Amino acid sequence: MTDGARVATRPGATSREAATHCPYCALQCGMTLRETDGRTEVLPRQFPTNRGGLCQKGWTAAELLDHPERLTTPLVRDPVTGEQRPASWDEALDRVAAGIRTVQSGHGRDAVAVFGGGGLTNEKAYALGKFARVALRTRHIDYNGRWCMSSAAAAGIRAFGVDRGLPFPLEDLARAETLLLVGANPAETMPPLLRHLTDQRQRGGRLIVIDPRVTATARQADLHLQPLPGTDLAVANALLHIALTEGWLDREYLATRTTGFDAVRRTVAGYWPAEVERLSGVPVADLEATARALATAGSAIILTARGAEQHAKGVDTVTAFVNLALALGLPGRPGSGYGCLTGQGNGQGGREHGQKADQLPGYRKIDDPAARAHVAGVWGVPADDLPGPGVPAYRLLDSLGTPDGPRALLVFGSNPVVSAPRAARIESRLRDLDLLVVADFLRSETAALADVVLPVAQWAEEDGTMTNLEGRVLRRRALREPPPGVRTDLAVLAGLATRLDAPVDFPTDPRTVFTELRRASAGGPADYAGVTWDRIDAASGVFWPCPDPDGPDTPRLFADRFPTPDGRARFHPVTHRPAAEEVCADYPLHFTTGRVLAQYQSGTQTRRVAALRRAAPGAFVELHPDLAARLGVTDGEEVRVVSRRGELRAPARVSPTIRPDTVFAPFHWAGAARANSVTNDAVDPVSGMPEFKICAVRVERVES
Ligand code: SF4
Repeated sequence: MTDGARVATRPGATSREAATHCPYCALQCGMTLRETDGRTEVLPRQFPTNRGGLCQKGWTAAELLDHPERLTTPLVRDPVTGEQRPASWDEALDRVAAGIRTVQSGHGRDAVAVFGGGGLTNEKAYALGKFARVALRTRHIDYNGRWCMSSAAAAGIRAFGVDRGLPFPLEDLARAETLLLVGANPAETMPPLLRHLTDQRQRGGRLIVIDPRVTATARQADLHLQPLPGTDLAVANALLHIALTEGWLDREYLATRTTGFDAVRRTVAGYWPAEVERLSGVPVADLEATARALATAGSAIILTARGAEQHAKGVDTVTAFVNLALALGLPGRPGSGYGCLTGQGNGQGGREHGQKADQLPGYRKIDDPAARAHVAGVWGVPADDLPGPGVPAYRLLDSLGTPDGPRALLVFGSNPVVSAPRAARIESRLRDLDLLVVADFLRSETAALADVVLPVAQWAEEDGTMTNLEGRVLRRRALREPPPGVRTDLAVLAGLATRLDAPVDFPTDPRTVFTELRRASAGGPADYAGVTWDRIDAASGVFWPCPDPDGPDTPRLFADRFPTPDGRARFHPVTHRPAAEEVCADYPLHFTTGRVLAQYQSGTQTRRVAALRRAAPGAFVELHPDLAARLGVTDGEEVRVVSRRGELRAPARVSPTIRPDTVFAPFHWAGAARANSVTNDAVDPVSGMPEFKICAVRVERVES
């Protein structure tokens, strides 16, 4: 039975509804799914994050439920023809289990790897981590959230002692007299969030945006800083330099709530605004206006997103903005603070419960003996049987099929053929595997390479929980059962665990899994012990940490102390350094990537929705009119963007909204238009975040 669906009473029609949330981004907009006489429609639902709004992706999400390309039978690659062919579930799962046994008996347990996704529910992410550690006993598990949130997560942990994207509810944005968005474009990535920004403006607040492009969000700002890609860190240090020079720091806050400012003070002293203007292109007057607006406001919030984070110095860049926020005394103050805007639907929960290489449920560290003992106790296995930490996503994928790397990979909810940096190389690594297994509900580009494809349920067909960008745990409620031939991810894991003689059960009921997750997370940084489905149902979600079912949850963190050993936030001095790849005579332009409103992530889903395809039919290369004139390129003409790693082809979109030294392409498309054929695979040394946001390219006309 589905949970949360109810029969409505419209005369003459068979109708049922489920109050749930959008399957896509981390805003997790509230929506009602209604099925009437076999037709499913999406209705907006009042919820604190979206307040009745949806974007085009949410409105059209139900179209995929009965899409003609929906996978409803397992596929296995025929050894004779080399083609994928339909198979029974028994044949498919037997083949996966046999393949795993063969690989592990020949090459060891770590020769099998697991790759998850930031769109999986908490229950699935938890079960996947448990499956890797208990059924496969491999250390190799990581997920695509590594490419989304990891830099902000690492910076948050080292400064605040915890990683919760927003340490306050979204409604707090409206209370900020000054709001600074860094590398964030919610007008395109999560449009309903703009309702909060509109409130902020109507209350007299100022919006400042830092972005190399004049985005739809930047156009709404009171002030737009347009730095050269890769210079945000220097800009942040210059802002702190100005605040320090002007005597705008919160001295009492520094003394009572933080440690380590002296080293930061010495570092930012060298970030003279005039020099940062030369480096970044941001005028001194704009730097001064931004610092003043933040420092002299009664309340201020700084938010970062992928534009600041997806760099080989992403952790340090976020840290620079955290330093600024701390020096101004913002975190923990009403209507103030630092936060990051999580991207994927369960980007927050997906990084808390064990699908990260170094992590156990509850945001515990896998190399912490006490954490291992606790989680092993919940799982009913000896702690010594749990493997140690694995490696971050790109390193894992880049090692596949190599002499020292895994020889088999199980992919759940991810499409690295499109989403990985330097994607052609990763595609080649996937082809080198002995066994590639993909669980998905559509035949993604990665599924097309698989030896076995397992058709799994969609969001409207299963219950579970998601944790949104605020750290608010939500209920995903099923409207209907999966179609015949389709199983849930939990059922897939259970079927494989049985075949692999796993020492413990893998429940298929998500509520049972969540109950176990609560116990496993109890006492950890992301403590869900007091979160129950009934409690979520009775309110608009529950904010973690929530250790006690009868105690309060935590909408706002840091009011009195930070979850560090001494209760204080920690400054870290950080310095600007160039991008991993600088422009040169052969590759004289900066290349940056991002999203468009009508598409989502690797496009596996949204490229198949007719209305979204009409709105955003394909990739494009955005370039400034001056650059276009220099290259002799006209608007709409196909161009080639070439880096040291590969190229993409797409029509030129000539626009003054981008700097003349930078070109942009969205990353939702595959094939010749794949932006990640070009991107750099240099990674942040702390977070493992690849440098998606900057590399060196040249642009060429494609001769007809
Ligand atoms: S903003 Fe995000 S959660 Fe809301 S409807 Fe759009 S994609 Fe869905």
